Amino acid sequence: MKPANELLSGIGTTIFTVMSALATQHGAINLGQGFPDSDGPLDVLAAAAAALTDGRNQYPPLTGVTELRQAVAAANARFYGLDVDPATEVVVTSGATEAITASLMALLNPGDEVVLIEPLYDTYLPIVRMLGAVPRLVRLEPPKWDLPRTELAAAFGPKTKAILLNTPMNPTSKVFTNAELAFIADLLVKHDAYAVCDEVYEHLTYDGWRHVPLMTLPGLRDRCLRIGSAGKTFSLTGWKVGYITAPAPLALLAARAHQNLTFTTPPNLQRAVAVGLAKDDAYFQGLASALEAKRDRLSAGLAGLGMTVLPSQGSYFVSVDYSPLGFAGDDVAFCRHITEQARVTAIPLTAFYDASGGPAPSHYARFAFCKADAILDEAVARLRQHFTARSAARLTATG
Ligand code: PMP
Ligand code: GLN
Repeated sequence: MKPANELLSGIGTTIFTVMSALATQHGAINLGQGFPDSDGPLDVLAAAAAALTDGRNQYPPLTGVTELRQAVAAANARFYGLDVDPATEVVVTSGATEAITASLMALLNPGDEVVLIEPLYDTYLPIVRMLGAVPRLVRLEPPKWDLPRTELAAAFGPKTKAILLNTPMNPTSKVFTNAELAFIADLLVKHDAYAVCDEVYEHLTYDGWRHVPLMTLPGLRDRCLRIGSAGKTFSLTGWKVGYITAPAPLALLAARAHQNLTFTTPPNLQRAVAVGLAKDDAYFQGLASALEAKRDRLSAGLAGLGMTVLPSQGSYFVSVDYSPLGFAGDDVAFCRHITEQARVTAIPLTAFYDASGGPAPSHYARFAFCKADAILDEAVARLRQHFTARSAARLTATG
């Protein structure tokens, strides 16, 4: 038989699914795949339930129900001062995952270059490549993850069509600084390029860090497709409701992509997300401060075990350098080891790097802290018990 799609044949199952399956197999606490362990706000859930039984279950409009498009426009105005036309500048998608694909489809022709920043979220590269575009990867280095400006500038050239920027960033938990955003903005204007802005963690920032959409920078209003996710903003990751905000000509093309990918997104969920986006400021602040406390709790626990905990300015995640523990293997071995032996699961950071860029740093693991306090405490207790027993065994063996 003729071989099927080469690109898809060449990529494995996503690390999130692999590690979640391993966690289930070993009865591990799953701090790998990023999902909260409790549902989002009751009024949003109730709105979704009520919307199921009031007779609006046929195909909703292609770009999203009016209520949600209006709510997305209003949220853009409230949080960022952006003036957005809900009729022509918003497209609702089935999750940010579809929004990313639709946005890339809206921009790219085969042969176009796309600047991507490593470590990167796992859907970016396969989609860029499937569209026949050429990735230009720029690496951030731990532990600070600062933007390497010379390398970034060098990645731009005459064929650059777009950058794909994720801030707050998964898996580094970095929030790009205003100076970094301004540097990127200058490059985009200079090279007449666009930006696909993955801003799913826009409301999850800590320590006074505030999310600034690239779209709000001078000259960038018409160059950006800005992506949000109800999954993250309302702790409902299974809902898969995303939204793109973009200038009308780009939104139109993203809608054309969406009509060929999924066409629409479940109407009751859309209407409930509109209720969520209209919630008062206290909800959004409360979400961030609750997660900040969890970040602190897990970070302190992991640091107490001797790991070097990297800063986390946003997202669901905190990463550690586990080498002080004396574990000899790489990050994949470490994450498997703790899942199987300590029954706590994390994600190896090498999963967020492409082989084309050379060896990635291989002694970092990402832990999700969007869990009940008791679960975070139990995870730390399990790791402590395991590593204490292990070093005692090693001392006995060498002593
Ligand atoms: N982008 C990033 C950086 C993410 O971490 C996620 C997490 N799931 C997504 C996109 C996908 O969001 P959604 O679940 O809304 O498709
Ligand atoms: N965004 C989530 C993470 O980084 C996972 C999403 C998924 O499983 N596809 O953990």
